Amino acid sequence: MTIVRWAPSPTGRIHLGNARPALLNWFFARRNGGKYVLRMDDTDLARSTLEFADGIEVDLEWLGITPDLLVRQSERTELYDAARDRLIADGRLYPCYETADELDRRRARARALGKPPIYDRAGLKLTDADRAALAAEGRKPHWRFRLDGRPVQFADLIKGTQTVNTASMSDPVLIREDGSYLYTLPSVVDDIDLAITHVIRGEDHVSNTGTQIEIIEALGGTVPIFAHHNLLTDAQGQGFSKRLGSQSIADFREAGYEPLAIAVMAAITGTSLPIEAYASLDEIANRLDLSMISHGPARFDPVELDNLNARLLHTMSYEQALPRLTSLGLEGEAIWMLLRDNLTKFADIVDLASLVTGPVEPIVADEDREFLALAKALLPAEPWTIETWSEWTGALKAATGRKGKALFLPLRLALTGRHDGPELKSLLPLVGRTACLARLP
Ligand code: GLU
Repeated sequence: MTIVRWAPSPTGRIHLGNARPALLNWFFARRNGGKYVLRMDDTDLARSTLEFADGIEVDLEWLGITPDLLVRQSERTELYDAARDRLIADGRLYPCYETADELDRRRARARALGKPPIYDRAGLKLTDADRAALAAEGRKPHWRFRLDGRPVQFADLIKGTQTVNTASMSDPVLIREDGSYLYTLPSVVDDIDLAITHVIRGEDHVSNTGTQIEIIEALGGTVPIFAHHNLLTDAQGQGFSKRLGSQSIADFREAGYEPLAIAVMAAITGTSLPIEAYASLDEIANRLDLSMISHGPARFDPVELDNLNARLLHTMSYEQALPRLTSLGLEGEAIWMLLRDNLTKFADIVDLASLVTGPVEPIVADEDREFLALAKALLPAEPWTIETWSEWTGALKAATGRKGKALFLPLRLALTGRHDGPELKSLLPLVGRTACLARLP
């Protein structure tokens, strides 16, 4: 059974860049009949909040993702403690007492000597007596994982075979001085405990993966299959960031975008699939294979989002639109089919529907008054059909010799009060003769 997880840190509202792994994991789970775990990486108690975690759930649901399981790392400390104790017992986790300043100085010295700024493992060399003396001074250790220092290889489903040489890395700190866990260990412990089969995440985690494979092996776990996707950037090529307040999913929702448009942009940008009006997330899941994700950057184009949003609305069936139309009091298939082509956001329908239901403020140029009076006189009798418009304008053309814009624009301006909008031949029967007469001077 395929089991994937999406593991956001609830330290802010999620943005398009976060939605990318959320969706790619979802598609992979759907495509393989697997399960999807939503894991809140909330071990950073200072920055994580329940409010942000709740916001993530809301955003996911809006995008159309329904996790099979929700876990919060803040509720799973016992598991991490057990892993910690095991690693300490096996000599893989060791206490270090350097302050941040000391480490900075050492790194600077190493750089000045042209050496890689790798932690020198001074902590490993401390004797029991040294440690006791440090503890007596009131110093608290942070804990580092002793890396094997070897080339760690894995077959990445997107990037192909990857090698991370842990010999060129500092032993990672897994536990802070205050006893709290950094991301690295809890993530691995949960991946093992929840039997995660595939870890699909951003390529900024590739070197983490080298470390984490070593930790998984040290804990006797099964190494999952990894897939690291390219990161989404904004139109300027900058990464999205929670802190810079760049467009969050909630911002897009509030701006009236379709969730599917956001999902397509977040997941399909930077793949070999086209950006188009897919019918559903499942259709994307059926078509998108991880191997289609490109190796170059994935640049989000806001203009493409607007176009896609409009296209999704122009092809939306009445059945799909009905619940929202009902909530706006705008039921009626004919109105939907007439107006959907003019929508860029769904909410535009409220304004456009006023072209049918009124009130309309007709625009009448003085030089068209006579023409419009004639138009009023020639307005056909009901019942009206899709042909009524051409009967009417045909008669007007014959009577006045007007054609093209001179014929149609004054009618549009009077009947709708606008320079453009829905097709008049379809609008006319919906407005009806009485209302049309009222709009003509
Ligand atoms: N909380 C981590 C992040 O947001 C999760 C990374 C992972 O998927 O392991 O980057």
